Amino acid sequence: DRVVSSDANDQELFLELSLRPQTLSQYIGQEKVKQNLAVFIEAAKQRNETLDHVLLYGPPGLGKTTLAMVIANEMGVNIRTTSGPAIERPGDLAAVLTALEPGEVLFIDEIHRLPKSIEEVLYPAMEDFCLDIVIGKGPSARSIRLDLPPFTLIGATTRAGAISAPLRDRFGVLSRLEFYTQAQLTHIAMRTADILQTQIERTGAEEIARRSRGTPRIANRLLRRVRDFAQVKGDGIITQELANYALQLLQVDKLGLDHIDHKLLKAIIERFKGGPVGLETIAASIGEEAETIEDVYEPYLMQIGFLQRTPRGRIVTNLVYHHFNMEVPGK
Ligand code: ADP
Repeated sequence: DRVVSSDANDQELFLELSLRPQTLSQYIGQEKVKQNLAVFIEAAKQRNETLDHVLLYGPPGLGKTTLAMVIANEMGVNIRTTSGPAIERPGDLAAVLTALEPGEVLFIDEIHRLPKSIEEVLYPAMEDFCLDIVIGKGPSARSIRLDLPPFTLIGATTRAGAISAPLRDRFGVLSRLEFYTQAQLTHIAMRTADILQTQIERTGAEEIARRSRGTPRIANRLLRRVRDFAQVKGDGIITQELANYALQLLQVDKLGLDHIDHKLLKAIIERFKGGPVGLETIAASIGEEAETIEDVYEPYLMQIGFLQRTPRGRIVTNLVYHHFNMEVPGK
C-alpha cells in the first residue's frame, strides 16, 4: 500500500471518526470556505430554514466528509451518508430520500459517479423537495409525485468538472477545498498526536507536515507510522530526527513524494523527453489508471510546480530535474 495515498483504508476509516473535528472552530484551515459557511449556517438558523445544498470539491483527503459532518453538527441536525457508486438504481435513491427526517443532511460522496438516470431523480428533490415516481409500464404507466421533507444535500467530489451542469446549478453553495499550508498541517499533526496521546516535538510535527502533500489524511497516516517507529526504535517521543529517520525508511522523500510519483516523473523525463505527453500515454507506460493519475497524483505535483498541463499534454518543469539531481536538458 502507498503510504502517501490520500484514500482511506478500512482501519483508517474507523480511526478517522475519532480524529474528526466536530465544529467549524475545530476545523483547521480552509478559512474562506469556513467564513462563508458560518454566515450561511447562521442565516438559515435565524430563518428556521434548512441550509441550501452544498457542493464540496477538491482532491481526496482534504476534509470534505469531515466538513459535511461539521456542517450538520453546526446546524444541529442529523447526517446520513451514502456515495455515488452505492446508489445503483433510481429506487435506491428514492429509498434514501423518503427515509429523511425534516431538516436532515444527506451527504453523497463521489457524487460525480451517480448515473445520469439517477441524477435526474435528484433534480426535483433538490429544487422542490419532491419525487416523481413512475408506476407501471407501457400505456398504463403513470407518474405520481411524492412530497419529501425539506433537507440539505451535501455533495462531495474530487472533480467538479465531472458533474453535469444541471446538477451543479442546483447547489446554492459551491466550495472548493485547497491544499493545506505547512503551518496548518503541523497544527493538525500536533492535534492528532494529542488525541492519540503521543508525545511529539514541534519540529517533529513540522517534518511530518512537510511531507504530507498538503493533505490532512496523509499527515495523520504518516504520524501514525512515525509513532510506531518512535515506540519501537526510540523512546516514544516523536522528534524531528526520528520523524526524518522513519520517513526515509518509508520512502517518502523531503517533499512527500513516493516511488509512484518518482516513477511517473521519471517516465516523462526518460521516455518522453520531459513532455509534452498525453495523460493516457503516461498511464499506459507506468501501468496506472489515467483517472487515478489525474485525481490523486497530479494535483499535488501541479501545486508544487513540478508538472504542467498544456493543450499538447503534460510537461515536467526544471524543478523536477533539480529534485532528482539531474541535469536540465538544453533547449
Ligand atoms: P475527504 O472526504 O476530502 O476525502 P476526510 O474528510 O475524510 O477527507 O478527511 C480525512 C482525514 O483528515 C479525517 O480523518 C480528518 O480527521 C482529517 N481532517 C481533514 N480536514 C481536517 C481539518 N480541517 N482539520 C483537522 N483534521 C482534518
